[in-house]
Amino acid sequence: MGIQRWVRRDLVIDDEIVEDKDKPVEIALPDWETLQAQVAACTACDLHKTRTQTVFGVGNRDAEWLIIGEAPGAEEDRKGEPFVGRAGQLLNAMLLAIGLKREHVYIANILKCRPPNNRDPRPEEVACCEPFLKRQVALLRPKIILAVGRIAAQNLLKTDTRIGALRGKRYTYADTDIPVVVTYHPAYLLRSPKEKRKAWQDLLFACQILDDEKQ
Ligand code: SF4
Repeated sequence: MGIQRWVRRDLVIDDEIVEDKDKPVEIALPDWETLQAQVAACTACDLHKTRTQTVFGVGNRDAEWLIIGEAPGAEEDRKGEPFVGRAGQLLNAMLLAIGLKREHVYIANILKCRPPNNRDPRPEEVACCEPFLKRQVALLRPKIILAVGRIAAQNLLKTDTRIGALRGKRYTYADTDIPVVVTYHPAYLLRSPKEKRKAWQDLLFACQILDDEKQ
């Protein structure tokens, strides 16, 4: 694990070494394996009490695309993998429609543990879990982030704007220049198949942004 100069204390998860309070903090930033172990052992919010296991994320750690959803559901909690089941199959089909296999992208969630009864994540839970996702983004350095569903979009973009109004625009993630595009959650598309056309537009929009980034 490399040692780096770093002053953003909000991204520190552990291994903090303070030399002098007026100097930048020197820390060892967790690599993928360390981060995954930290997530697996995390008890920072009450969701650890009800989870079967943490759901860290899955996929290609060199991926250009980072797909971010809300939180594990019952099946994800059982399997330890995000976006499985029918919604996961639809996500795979959506990706395939733009020439991407699931193994080409990286998939993660805002929360690493399942909220009981699939309730919405609470702000304090999101705040507790956010450093893990930030570190995943820093390690992955994706070329584009697809925020999938209202909860993911609103928490990534720090807004309470409704998802319909968030679609079709280019945002950036936190204090980076990584573009973020918003689309509907596949679970919603399964309930509202007429909206698939809009999700297709969102994917094409994201592809266009990625093409523009590469030029
Ligand atoms: Fe830790 Fe995140 Fe799970 Fe809460 S949801 S216990 S912060 S890993």
